[in-house]
Amino acid sequence: MRKLMMAANWKMNMSLADLEGYIDTLKKNRNVQSGDRLLETVLAMPYPFLFRARELIRGTRIRLGAQNAHWQERGAFTGEVSIGMLKELGVTEVILGHSERRQQFGEYDEVVAKKVQTCIHHDMRALLCVGETLEERKSGQTFSVVQRQLDAVFSGLADLTKLVIAYEPVWAIGTGVSASSAQAQEVHRFIRDKAKQKFGDAADSLLILYGGSMNLSNVRELVAQPDIDGGLIGGASLDASLFSQMLDAVLS
Ligand code: PEP
Repeated sequence: MRKLMMAANWKMNMSLADLEGYIDTLKKNRNVQSGDRLLETVLAMPYPFLFRARELIRGTRIRLGAQNAHWQERGAFTGEVSIGMLKELGVTEVILGHSERRQQFGEYDEVVAKKVQTCIHHDMRALLCVGETLEERKSGQTFSVVQRQLDAVFSGLADLTKLVIAYEPVWAIGTGVSASSAQAQEVHRFIRDKAKQKFGDAADSLLILYGGSMNLSNVRELVAQPDIDGGLIGGASLDASLFSQMLDAVLS
């Protein structure tokens, strides 16, 4: 049986002053204490919070995540942060290839693939985001786009052990319009099938998260789908008590 993962993507939100209160609230949830080992909870936060957050989550099962990193170890890359540096801070998961990075920062498939490889080389988990834009969906390109994004990464991978995939239709991110559970399941199934073709039965253990306007009212139905193993949550993760209720909802 696959585990579930709920990963919060704070994007460029929150402040150091909010951190303690947020984590205190989340700590009250039995699932992040010693509770249900079926659920992994990741907080992917801005870099400046990581050092303090590492202290605050000590003794809980919350995992520390980042939202991006450079694929090189070090060098003349002003403004960038390497995956090794994040590892030193206790980060175990890194979101890579988020559509906001692809669209606003020009991250194309090959760059995303290099980042995933470096992440895995450091024995950290890559949360690879894939998904189509509204135009691509409307013109029937959903599967070809997702396939292209997967192929770029799969071609350089030996196995799936350190990979988590998040299907995030771009049209659903931050819009309040989630994919229906049927729409999401269809693409999740496609992703698992593609992973199976390349990596065999290991694909049965691959975690595939859904992201895009996931909230307390739709999380349970989405995660009840056979190939949806949790969520990558932006807006709704900014409120600790709401996020905590979502953790409960996926296990209920
Ligand atoms: C995201 O950006 O990864 C995301 C899923 O955002 P939201 O939940 O706000 O749609």
